[in-house]
Amino acid sequence: MNSCSCVELIEYPVVFKNGITHIRVECVECKKFIKWKPQPVNLFKLWFGIYKGVPLQNVPYDYLNWLLNNHSNKKLIGKINKYLSEN
Ligand SMILES: [Zn+2]
Repeated sequence: MNSCSCVELIEYPVVFKNGITHIRVECVECKKFIKWKPQPVNLFKLWFGIYKGVPLQNVPYDYLNWLLNNHSNKKLIGKINKYLSEN
């Protein structure tokens, strides 16, 4: 039986095939998988345009604002709104 109490955890990013990054949380000692955490929204990367591959935290505010008014992708709009409300 596994006697590890899994109190000391480690987190690291894993990029999925669809390009989405999640944070994998596992036990430092026994390596048991604990859970997936969504990537912090400030690290969400644009997948198009002149800021392709750039995390939201490094994209100029004016451009984010422009996207809000000119882009129809619900997922993108949701991420930008969340980011702006937290920063
Ligand atoms: Zn453990």
